[in-house]
Amino acid sequence: MKIITTIAEMQKEMTALKAQGHTVGYVPTMGFLHEGHMSLMKTARPQNDILVLSIFVNPLQFGPTEDLDAYPRDFDRDHKTAEAEGVDFIFYPSAEEMYPQEASNKVTVQQRTNVLCGKSRPGHFDGVATVLVKLFNIIQPDRAYFGLKDAQQVAVVEGLIKDFNFPIELVPVNTIREDDGLAKSSRNVYLSKEERAQAPELNKGLQLAKATIESGERNPQNIVRLINKHITDHCDAEVDYIEIYSYPELKKLETLSGKIIIALAVRFSKARLIDNIILEIE
Ligand code: AMP
Repeated sequence: MKIITTIAEMQKEMTALKAQGHTVGYVPTMGFLHEGHMSLMKTARPQNDILVLSIFVNPLQFGPTEDLDAYPRDFDRDHKTAEAEGVDFIFYPSAEEMYPQEASNKVTVQQRTNVLCGKSRPGHFDGVATVLVKLFNIIQPDRAYFGLKDAQQVAVVEGLIKDFNFPIELVPVNTIREDDGLAKSSRNVYLSKEERAQAPELNKGLQLAKATIESGERNPQNIVRLINKHITDHCDAEVDYIEIYSYPELKKLETLSGKIIIALAVRFSKARLIDNIILEIE
């Protein structure tokens, strides 16, 4: 496994491998790897000749009051995890390498961002899309793997690949959870003991919604109220949003039908957690 920190070297290696006819799978991350990230690597490994992992905490996608400086980092541990998962290259650039001077261009995402995390994190998806355009051009993958834990990100990336004609297949990967149902996240380390005990209620609220829909409820507002009550009854945390949309278009629904996403974000004292479920309704 090679660790590469410069764009020039990464692009040169990938251009040479692609010229030899190798297929490239790519897993973008911000590091502090856990089983969620590992599941992306495990999915990608057998589908591609070459597996590239990037670790880059992208300043462009953090708002001024968000946790950029506090974002957890542990490169030595990530290095070992990547090695064990059969990664061929880790691309590990600095922020200066990725953004050397004030850029003349950035990507503006025009659809699928005025809801969910896009609404409460203005500019976040522009930052995600901008760094991905750079990373896609540097790594030149055939397939890119993204977790459905960040389902809005998957929807945005689908639009980005389509609109800008990247010759890349987007592969969405299901959310990996702890035994008690909490979605694995690098931010879970910031939960206090009490909060960690409460956090599985987010998924329980979503499961309650699923069961209620399965027994016939089709009114989105009733479902939102149900989840909100479940979370506020069980967690000392502030609900940022609980919303339901069509997926992946993220359009508002008057009544529940077709492929839908129920997504939520909840603020505990030092961590904002997100979760979602995607359902197909007859
Ligand atoms: P991050 O390092 O948080 O930017 O995440 C990198 C990738 O891992 C993204 O595509 C995430 O959606 C994915 N990911 C993070 N947590 C999970 C999880 N619990 N299950 C599946 N994928 C995940």
